Order: sequence, then structure tokens, then C-alpha cells
Amino acid sequence: MFIDTAEIHVRGGDGGNGCVAFRREKFVPRGGPSGGDGGHGGSVFAVADPALNTLYHLRHQKSFRAERGEHGMGSNRHGRSGGDVVVPLPLGSVVRDAETGEPIADLLAAGERVLLAKGGNGGWGNQHFATPARQAPKFAKPGLPGEERQLAIELKLLADVAIIGFPNAGKSTLISAISAAKPKIADYPFTTLVPHLGVVAGDDSRTLVVADIPGLIAGAHRGAGLGIRFLKHVERCRLLCHLVDASGSGDAENDVEVLEKELREFSPEVAARPRVLVASKIDAVSDPDRPASIARAAASRGLPFYEISAVTHRGLEPLTHYFFDSVSREPSAAGRS
Ligand code: GDP
Ligand code: MG
Repeated sequence: MFIDTAEIHVRGGDGGNGCVAFRREKFVPRGGPSGGDGGHGGSVFAVADPALNTLYHLRHQKSFRAERGEHGMGSNRHGRSGGDVVVPLPLGSVVRDAETGEPIADLLAAGERVLLAKGGNGGWGNQHFATPARQAPKFAKPGLPGEERQLAIELKLLADVAIIGFPNAGKSTLISAISAAKPKIADYPFTTLVPHLGVVAGDDSRTLVVADIPGLIAGAHRGAGLGIRFLKHVERCRLLCHLVDASGSGDAENDVEVLEKELREFSPEVAARPRVLVASKIDAVSDPDRPASIARAAASRGLPFYEISAVTHRGLEPLTHYFFDSVSREPSAAGRS
């Protein structure tokens, strides 16, 4: 199951209390203060784990709490610090404070580690509080509580090219036709309701990741037809490849505009990303004006235009070359070079 949002509660460990103690030595009648400090509480960290594809594991564990620090002890012994706790997250995870919406982490590189909740500091033992006037302080500091918060996590795919288009435009078929291998992150079940990723191999061992964004229909930006869940994955892509079925009939202008409008209404920034318009299923054209109308829709918007058939493979090579060319030109929204 593809889970792309989750809420978890994280809490750093409390600091251990400082200790109040006095030296007892055989021939020293009035020993000085010897209370050790409390240990620091452990912290909770997020770590980007490239083996993860979804947030599914957070269904079972919604609370992450680091270990508390030990209390200080007599004879100036400090309490041990509490152990840290790690929340493994897939690459592309965005972590926000669930209450304030404040961004906390945006995990882009394998192994990246971000503090989610800091452990509390341990309290000072009474040995710190001795002064010439107060040689036997009978107090110490308590440990501080660990930081605590509720986090909202969202997974945004890190694809280079997003294939968008109406259901049945041929998106999944295109991905299977051009992708050489499925990366680990592409282990989604192959259905039309989950984004499907493929790695396209280029010349000189370059690769790029192509995502099939399913479920886009009119009203998707308002949540119709599951499209909204997937539109947000488009935000990270460097190029949008808009597929329009050339085997249908009628002028394509309206079909193109409906989807373009969804993008604009979802986010002006997404709508401003580089796009290419592609007439799909060119092997099955029944109305000769249909592909021509797709070409016109591209020209009137200043978009590059390609014709392909994922079945006969016509036009796939020029299209993938275009993907490589434009992706190496465009810095991604995520700031990757
Ligand atoms: P998606 O909903 O956009 O992912 O569309 P699919 O890839 O599932 O394709 C929808 C239908 O169109 C399927 O029956 C495919 O076999 C068919 N199809 C996809 N690409 C082509 C093509 O290039 N030529 C022809 N003739 N049929 C295609
Ligand atoms: Mg599909």
C-alpha cells in the first residue's frame, strides 16, 4: 500500500536531575558537596533511508521517544546520557510541525540526519553551587524536559520528469516502454492509483527518473479523483510531460486546457515548470485532425511537441533525448544540481 502522509509524535528524553550529596570521609568532619549532574536526555532524529519507498512503516509506530538521562549520583558521579532514537524516512520526505506548519526537514540525500526533538539537559548537581559563603548547598537543579512535538510528514517523489495526462492517455504504458529498470524506490504495486516510477537509461550511463502521475481529471486540484494526492508529487519534477491521446476524436484544445487549468489552480509555480506536449498512441489515429490539433495546442502555448507510440516505439527515442536535454538544463525545484 502506498502511504504518502503520516503524523507522528516525537519526544526527546528528559534530562536527569542533579544530585544533592556530601562527601563522607573518615577524617573529614564536614565534607563538601559532591552531587553529580544529571545526564542529558536523548534526542529524536529523522534519517533519510534510501531503502524506504513509502511512509507505511509509520502506520504501526506513531510515537518516538528518546531515552531519558540518568539522575546524578553521589561522589560526583554524573548520570549517563539517554540514547537517541532515529525515525527512518524515505528520500523526498518533508517534515513539518503539525500544529504550526513550520518546516523542519526536507530529506533529499541518503543518510541525511535532522533533529526532530532535542533531549532535555541534565540538571547540575549541588557541587556546582558551592560558594565561599555557602559551602553546603542543599539543592541541585532538576533535569529539563525533552522537547516534544507532533509532526506531519509528507512524501514527495523525487522524479525528474512527471508524466501527466487524463486516465488512459497512455502514461503507464509509456513508462514501461522507456524505462530500462525499476529502481528500489519504484516498488509500488503497478496499479493506476499509485505513482509509478521508472528509470530511463540514457547515453553515457546517465539515468533519469520518470514518474507516472495518475488520477488527474477535471477538479483534481480540489481533490476530485485522487489527483490532488499525486499533484503534490509534481512539485519536485523538473519537467512535466503532458500526454494527450491522439487516438481519440475531436479537437484536443479543450482536453489540453482542462489539464493545464488544473495545474495552474493547483499551483502557479507548478504550472510555470517546463512542459512538453506529447500526442500518444500515434499508431492508432482514427481522426487525422486529432494529432494536428494537439500540435496546434502546443504551438499556441509555446510548448515543444512530440508524437509517440508506446506500442510501436515510434518517437520514443527523440522524446527521451528531449527529457535528458531539458533535465540537464533545468535545476530542479528541490535544488538538486
Ligand atoms: P494511463 O491511464 O495513462 O496510465 O494509460 P495506460 O498506459 O494504462 O493505457 C491505457 C490504454 O491505452 C491501454 O489499453 C493501453 O494498452 C493503451 N495504449 C497505451 N499506449 C498506447 C499506444 O501507444 N498505442 C496504442 N494503440 N495503445 C496504447
Ligand atoms: Mg496508468
